[in-house]
Amino acid sequence: MTQAVVLFGSPGSGKGTQANLLRNCLKVPHISTGDMLREHIREGNALGVRVAATMQTGALVRDEVVDQLVERRLAEPDAQAGFILDGYPRTREQAEHLCGWLDSRGIRELVIHLIVDYNIIVTRLTGRRQCPRCGTLYNIVSNPPRVEGVCDLDGQALVIRDDDRESVIRQRLAEYESQSRPLIEFFREHGRRLVEIDASDQTPEALSTQVCRTIVGQASGPVPAQR
Ligand code: AMP
Repeated sequence: MTQAVVLFGSPGSGKGTQANLLRNCLKVPHISTGDMLREHIREGNALGVRVAATMQTGALVRDEVVDQLVERRLAEPDAQAGFILDGYPRTREQAEHLCGWLDSRGIRELVIHLIVDYNIIVTRLTGRRQCPRCGTLYNIVSNPPRVEGVCDLDGQALVIRDDDRESVIRQRLAEYESQSRPLIEFFREHGRRLVEIDASDQTPEALSTQVCRTIVGQASGPVPAQR
């Protein structure tokens, strides 16, 4: 059975951190459209050049671009046993595209909606730091590195992502509210398996344990939307 997990939630809800922790539990790849797009920008290739300006403003990249990126990534051998999607789908068009792709292969996904209080989201996003080499995320308040400003894993100096600056954060949250949040209704209306988890107050490790139990416990059978 293909273990298809969609981590859904606002920017700053902890999807990336959870996806990383979940790899220990699920042994399937973490597929983040944001990371893939940033990789293209780092490489300076044609796609990277095309999306860089859009990403810098906090707006969404065009649906066809991300649909294609994800579809290609899902075709790779390591994704055949399953995958954890992080940051995709983000629009109705993307959700329809993904659901069509999954349905045509008989794969039943589990959407996990991480619900986090708005004020916590803003604090998290403004305090976020990332290792430019390995991508590990920290937060100066809730998840600081052992040595200030330095990655625990490889000693690189941590950076603030361009799109974690305040004006861009506002735009990203606005995009989420207008384009992505309505997908919760889409998932419900279309009978997709959706679980909502309150992710405001737990440590990343405790939340990961809960998310992992949820996935394993609900690997089969229909799941009504629940909170
Ligand atoms: P993330 O790292 O998921 O917060 O994504 C960073 C940025 O990449 C977003 O603000 C968008 O500009 C772009 N992006 C990532 N995923 C998508 C997506 N599914 N659809 C459109 N744009 C995306």
